[in-house]
Amino acid sequence: MMTDSLKQHISILLNSEIKQTQPVSGGDISSAYKFSTTANTYFLKVNSGADALQMFQTEAKALQVILDTNTIKTPKVFHVGSVDGSHYILMEFIDTKSPSPKDMKLFGEQLAKLHLVTSDAFGLEFDNFIGSLHQSNKKHPTWSDFYIDERIAPQLQLAQQKGLLDQSETPSKEQIKSVCSSYFQNIKPALLHGDLWGGNYIIASNGTPYLIDPASYFGHSEVDIAMSQLFGGFSTDFYNAYHSIIPQDNFTKQRIEWYQLYYLLVHLNLFGRTYYGSVKSILNTYF
Ligand code: ADP
Repeated sequence: MMTDSLKQHISILLNSEIKQTQPVSGGDISSAYKFSTTANTYFLKVNSGADALQMFQTEAKALQVILDTNTIKTPKVFHVGSVDGSHYILMEFIDTKSPSPKDMKLFGEQLAKLHLVTSDAFGLEFDNFIGSLHQSNKKHPTWSDFYIDERIAPQLQLAQQKGLLDQSETPSKEQIKSVCSSYFQNIKPALLHGDLWGGNYIIASNGTPYLIDPASYFGHSEVDIAMSQLFGGFSTDFYNAYHSIIPQDNFTKQRIEWYQLYYLLVHLNLFGRTYYGSVKSILNTYF
């Protein structure tokens, strides 16, 4: 909630009176608001959860990492902080519109350019969150080690701990590695958004695409494509533009399934058994 003490705190930070506060819907984790001062319009997310401050700090850092690549825009973050147990992130408000085919083409091109930003290892300098779950970005020189040790195995383990998967249904790291090794060849680290569903990009009213709410790290570029396709997919204009820069290959289909498995396990762990069937169907294909 945007309490009076938070309002007052932000007004002092901005050295300006806060006018017209409006709730913004669409976020799954925090409450969000739009407000104006005489000079500017701002977007504020508020959350009083135990991890919220750290979540907002890593969100701000990842937004900056993406912005610094000059490939695709992210909203500018002004402050991250806490008042009376309410944690917040304050950023620029982007006026949005529904995407046109041209906007989606530009978004596809710019995402591909972000993915061409590379590094000497998979992972990132700091860990972050996927939804409200911890996401380790411990660096590894090979993609299969990173993806299995830092992504799949921890989520499988959590699902077991939560009683959502039996031990007999859970493949070992060695089993997963032997299946994936043929698919995970010649993969270069690419800077990812990390949680690219349809609610995590916006198109500004002038047509500029913006990424929001990232869970970034250096990983395989197809991870973002896999997430974008998990719940319905983006438009063909987007995929045509993207793949004209980063083409698919013979194993894309299998890898997309493997990468969706991570997000489905995350959903299983966050939201429960509704996602069991989808997880199980991928596991059954390979084990
Ligand atoms: P949550 O972390 O709670 O999921 P989001 O960051 O996804 O919240 O934001 C919730 C919604 O608010 C988004 O779906 C988007 O429509 C809108 N939104 C997010 N950031 C901005 C912004 N900087 N300017 C305008 N609208 C935004």
